[in-house]
Amino acid sequence: MPGAGEKCRVKSQGELNLLDLIGYDEPPLLLIMSAPSGAGKSTICRRLLNQNKNLVFSVSTTTRSPRVDEVDGQDYHFVEEDVFKKMIRENAFLEWANVHGEYYGTSRQAVIDELKRGKDVMLDIDVQGGKQIKKLYPEAVMVFIAPPSMEELESRLRNRNTETEEEIKKRLENSRGELMELGNYDYLVVNESVEKAVSRLEAIRTAEKTRLERIKRGRPGL
Ligand code: 5GP
Repeated sequence: MPGAGEKCRVKSQGELNLLDLIGYDEPPLLLIMSAPSGAGKSTICRRLLNQNKNLVFSVSTTTRSPRVDEVDGQDYHFVEEDVFKKMIRENAFLEWANVHGEYYGTSRQAVIDELKRGKDVMLDIDVQGGKQIKKLYPEAVMVFIAPPSMEELESRLRNRNTETEEEIKKRLENSRGELMELGNYDYLVVNESVEKAVSRLEAIRTAEKTRLERIKRGRPGL
């Protein structure tokens, strides 16, 4: 036993590294949220964002038209197709995809800036985007939100009254393909109730932020 004022002798390099981690900075997370349309992802994401000041939402760019309650710059950056294509050419997107016939993309610079500020960044993107991000940045935490059943998914999609019948059909068809992509994800959260889903997401976030492997790696280098 070392006496008072005497330091513990560090036996190995491995041990030294671990001791250095005491008082560490929590590494910022890139949190990827995907779900079939109507699974309730937006409500869950909003709740999680409201209860965590250190978590920010990455506002995507899209060519789809705004819904009545959507605000440009807050829900999405709404642009015309030629603008979106120019942004692709300029490499402005970390990932982009055509989803249900419209273009959607994640701003590369905005995500990098927030991670550099030490913020956790939430991306609400489809499974094609999720695949691209996982390849680019394997440390991303991939969460798939699933509805309790396909019947429930259809009824939620219809009840929200934001899509035409044709769009609803397209989204339901796509949802089967989206569920097939589950294998790319780290976590599955079934949205039986918003409260339960949000509390599971809090648990995932806490676990990921305290993972020793992540702490050892430090800040993500996108
Ligand atoms: P909505 O039109 O309902 O807002 O979104 C349709 C789908 O596009 C959702 O699955 C949503 O997660 C996805 N999405 C939104 N933004 C992006 C993005 O920047 N990239 C990709 N790949 N998908 C996105």
